[in-house]
Amino acid sequence: MVKCPRCGAEVSPERTWQVISPLPDAYGRITITVLGSFKCSSCGYSWKGKVSTVKVGPEGEVSFGEGRKSKKKGEASGERREGKVIEVDISDILEEE
Ligand SMILES: [Zn+2]
Repeated sequence: MVKCPRCGAEVSPERTWQVISPLPDAYGRITITVLGSFKCSSCGYSWKGKVSTVKVGPEGEVSFGEGRKSKKKGEASGERREGKVIEVDISDILEEE
């Protein structure tokens, strides 16, 4: 859930889509940013914004969120899941390219 920037009500996205970063990060992971369009049912304000960020590693491991840039090398092979698990069908996303 995302909060309305105008009135603070919780709003779920009306529509979401993914934007895939063309370059993998230092660990070979591809960053998928999930964007959404929102419309507040409380005040009617509509906007677009980021819903979540998903990183998919070269062996299919998935991590969520940001701010893990300080992660040491050698840790990259460990699968790390944080927050709720969102199932992503990678083949579907790749077909959009
Ligand atoms: Zn609102």
